[in-house]
Amino acid sequence: MNDPTEEEIEAQRLLVARLGRLGFVLPGSLVRRYTRCGNHNCHCYSEPPELHGPYTQWTRTEANKTVSRIWSDEQLSRYQSWLDNARQARDILSDLEALAISIVERDEANRRPRLGNRARGSQTRNSR
Ligand SMILES: [Zn+2]
Repeated sequence: MNDPTEEEIEAQRLLVARLGRLGFVLPGSLVRRYTRCGNHNCHCYSEPPELHGPYTQWTRTEANKTVSRIWSDEQLSRYQSWLDNARQARDILSDLEALAISIVERDEANRRPRLGNRARGSQTRNSR
């Protein structure tokens, strides 16, 4: 019998339950950014330049395009945990995938007919 074990089913349930408790999941990452403005007489164009910032920039990819927004400290405190949730969601998804991969690899290795067996005409152990 090659199906997932009780432990594997339980591990899968625990991971999905953790995913279910996460709350809002916001994609993207934060960058601290210093910028120049449009006024060429501004100190941000002086030598050496005194750039504006730092600003917190939230960046994500949407349809292969980078989308960026400048966040206030208030927005940062409101949404930071949502970004953290997204990271956790990706970690949990990776664990779910790793679990499934390990089951597939084991089960398919068990189901694969052995060359020696086939040459002797015997049955493989897949008896379901
Ligand atoms: Zn400026």
